[in-house]
Amino acid sequence: MKILYEGKAKILFDDGVPGTLIQHFKDSATAFNAEKKEEFEGKGFLNRAISEHLFTVLAAAGIPTHFVETIDGNRDRVRRVDIIPLEVVVRNRAAGSFVKRFGAPKNLPFVPPLFELYLKDDALGDPQISPEASFALSLATEEEIAQLKVFALTVNEVLTALFAKVGLLLADYKLEFGRTAPGEILLADEISPDTMRLWDPETMESFDKDLFREDKGDLLAGYREVLRRLEATL
Ligand code: UDP
Repeated sequence: MKILYEGKAKILFDDGVPGTLIQHFKDSATAFNAEKKEEFEGKGFLNRAISEHLFTVLAAAGIPTHFVETIDGNRDRVRRVDIIPLEVVVRNRAAGSFVKRFGAPKNLPFVPPLFELYLKDDALGDPQISPEASFALSLATEEEIAQLKVFALTVNEVLTALFAKVGLLLADYKLEFGRTAPGEILLADEISPDTMRLWDPETMESFDKDLFREDKGDLLAGYREVLRRLEATL
């Protein structure tokens, strides 16, 4: 099978099925633009399973997604899209780079949630970008950005409620979107504890990649617990 793209956490293969690709979730964890890297056997499986669960819930809520079907433990079939080179971040609580850049207290609530865009460019360190600069650089049209915002905030309503049901606070997360050949926008990439911050609302314990970023616990145990709680809702 032809490797179309290999990133830090996933590989995209083209196996010749028209309009689709195979998305393989790796066991690698990286942080700080891949300066920190480690293998966690079973992480790819957990992220794929969690992401499938969330994409299925979101599709049922009317969000168009790239997910087609599960192939096996680490692999999904997804619709083929051109990824829009913008990372869409939604924040319900201050954390991570927001705390570092703006000196905000961690856990400061945002009501309404913050909708932010970052340029997907590792060499530039994924800088934050305004909607206006995104239009000026032809990364997306004004209508597309408006559509991304509606999708991102609908995702927020659905996932905030889902995680609250299983005793977790969704502090922030990153989404990626892509365009199909006819120009339909689909939610793509993954939504997993690699791309979200999930906290115990009482103890502020993390169930996400901060376990690895900040060396504060067992990453696999945290991810397994997220999957266990989501599966209990079925
Ligand atoms: N995020 C991500 N990929 C990135 C940058 C951020 O998945 O390249 C996620 C991150 O896991 C967190 C949210 O987006 O859930 C906001 O991240 P932030 O801007 O605070 O940056 P970070 O702390 O990851 O440097």
